[in-house]
Amino acid sequence: MKEEDIGKIKTIETAEGICIEAEIVRVYCPACGEEFIGTKRGAGGFVAGHQAYHEFVNRQDMIMNEMGGV
Ligand SMILES: [Zn+2]
Repeated sequence: MKEEDIGKIKTIETAEGICIEAEIVRVYCPACGEEFIGTKRGAGGFVAGHQAYHEFVNRQDMIMNEMGGV
């Protein structure tokens, strides 16, 4: 996937099956600024994965602080 692909409609073969007429989108994570270019399904996984990761890390930091810091 490249920047030129953003906004294009493609049929993409994945490990799970074929995405017919999938729109290529670009999303970024507001927490760390990482960007993703790919299908909406991939973007959903990217966003959800980052959200889960950042929440996990934040929670770990909070627990550390509660226990008296590092
Ligand atoms: Zn992130």
